[in-house]
Amino acid sequence: MEAKSDDDGSMEFVVLTAWECASCEVAGRTPPGMAVECWSCGGSVVITARPSIRRLTG
Ligand SMILES: [Zn+2]
Repeated sequence: MEAKSDDDGSMEFVVLTAWECASCEVAGRTPPGMAVECWSCGGSVVITARPSIRRLTG
């Protein structure tokens, strides 16, 4: 199985958690490994999407 190598291999994808807080009417994104909570009220939020971004490593 051959993998395409269009880049130099120094990038990896990170899946964030995008969310909205209905109480505060704010939105945010949380990186993996962190608790998903509203930065405004600290309460629970509604997850709206899981966008993937590229992150430099090393
Ligand atoms: Zn909130």
